[in-house]
Amino acid sequence: MNPSAEAVSFAELGLRAELVAALAALGYEEPTPIQREAIPRLLEGRDVLGQAATGTGKTAAFALPLLQRLPEGRSATTPLGVVLVPTRELAVQVSEAVHKYGRNLGVRVLPVYGGQPVPRQVRALERGVDVVVATPGRALDHLGRGTLRFDDIEVVVLDEADEMLDMGFAEDIETILDALPGERQTVLFSATLAPRVDKIVRRHLRDPVRVTTDNERREPGEAPAVRQQAYIVSRANKPAALGRLLDVEAPNAALVFCRTRDEVDQLTESLNGRGYRGEALHGGMNQEQRDRVMGRLRSGTADLIVATDVAARGLDIKQLTHVVNYDVPASPDTYVHRIGRVGRAGREGVAITLAEPREHRMLKTIERVTKHKIAIEQIPTVADLRARRLELTRAGLEESLLGDDLDGFRVVVESLSDQFDLMSIALAAVKLAHEASGAASAEEEEIPDLAPADERYGGGARPPRAQGRGRAPSAGMTRLFVGLGRSAGVRPQDLVGAITGEAPVRGREIGAIEITDRFSLVEVPEAVADQIVAALRGVTIKGRRATVRRERSDGAPSPRAHRAPR
Ligand code: AMP
Repeated sequence: MNPSAEAVSFAELGLRAELVAALAALGYEEPTPIQREAIPRLLEGRDVLGQAATGTGKTAAFALPLLQRLPEGRSATTPLGVVLVPTRELAVQVSEAVHKYGRNLGVRVLPVYGGQPVPRQVRALERGVDVVVATPGRALDHLGRGTLRFDDIEVVVLDEADEMLDMGFAEDIETILDALPGERQTVLFSATLAPRVDKIVRRHLRDPVRVTTDNERREPGEAPAVRQQAYIVSRANKPAALGRLLDVEAPNAALVFCRTRDEVDQLTESLNGRGYRGEALHGGMNQEQRDRVMGRLRSGTADLIVATDVAARGLDIKQLTHVVNYDVPASPDTYVHRIGRVGRAGREGVAITLAEPREHRMLKTIERVTKHKIAIEQIPTVADLRARRLELTRAGLEESLLGDDLDGFRVVVESLSDQFDLMSIALAAVKLAHEASGAASAEEEEIPDLAPADERYGGGARPPRAQGRGRAPSAGMTRLFVGLGRSAGVRPQDLVGAITGEAPVRGREIGAIEITDRFSLVEVPEAVADQIVAALRGVTIKGRRATVRRERSDGAPSPRAHRAPR
């Protein structure tokens, strides 16, 4: 199947009506390329090996065919599908996705992960579930206790397989796969297909169909003259970050892409609430409504259009200077198509992508496929913004000095000049002009920038996970003390799991880990060390609360901290 083939609908992929209705209600307008490729093959019952990062729509790609199998009014208590994921964060996200896609089917889905009390999970499992989304360690735990049974499993999904292997879950995964019924469908999604992933594929997948967004190879130079930049921010900070960027960039006209209809409506509303002039454009609008929106942009009544891909298809906006991807596009092809709307006819355009930390990998895929660098930039600070606003005021004054007839104001300056010097008068006039532009009044806060540590350190390779106490941490890294060790049953993967689950850092960014009987030392990127310490406050590892802090500079943990807290 060709990912750039003519648009198809979810119904045309063969999905049942309840699912199609749920997707429409969520404002999904069409399948993403990875969904177009994977869903029909999964519905045929084939095993699938998917190379796709977060942001491609991979969750729906495996969740929808799994839900398709759900018998009406299923009352069996043992699950029919199990999804293995690397972190508790992903367990919760995938469960929520399965829940919302399967709403009309009444699906019972349960996330099961380390760190959550076991008895609560046991009670939920006893009540009966259709789909379990679990981290491998905890799944194995329940399997051993007999509280999770795999007799009726028809589908197993390994989501973010490379991450799970990075975290040391290889053995757990093998054990779980061996415990599953032989007659089953196996689906594996991974951002990279490293040899370790391949080993699992060869052992456990049966004649898999391979699907990927990576094969849309393009010739270099095909992309237009576009300044491409990206910012890494949390979902919650995206509206503020977009506002800040619009203020600093001051686009002539911008096209902002969202994934769904609901996002388009919400973002338009939020932007207009912040004083921007945006218009929503999505597939649910008729031609007349669309024409009206375009008219407002052309006449300058609006300077922002917030749109889905479907709605923006075929739009040609001459005055467009900026394209904003409010989320990372679902495929490199979509990215290239979107940014091609600026930088036409020799003019330089700007493409801005807002990515959540988890979507960073997708940015890299897009860079590789398009053979163009996307610069990760720091979100402008309040100081940057103030400087930019002053610059705009200055430019306005310059324009007025060059072009306007100012004689009518001479009398004001002359009458003041008896009392004040000309510089003071000019300063007061600039202040009033600046305030009148609305620039000075806005309350501004700093927006946290979550660019990953390896980007901040010039993209250096991750340091080896070697033994290392007493040695200085690697460049750009710092050591954290965790007050739990071997005697509490802590393994490297537990530490990596807790850290990646709670803080914006990936498994591969974590450096050397040393575990002693009573405590552990973990090397983490200096830039996120404090965030990790804060994020781990109150979190339990292996059922226990741990002291987490920076290692003392003399290299030795304090004597008090040697005691593992109860
Ligand atoms: P994923 O790559 O699975 O993490 O999905 C990325 C995001 O895209 C999620 O927020 C989904 O809700 C959203 N999404 C997935 N498929 C579609 C689609 N066909 N149309 C619009 N949004 C989608």
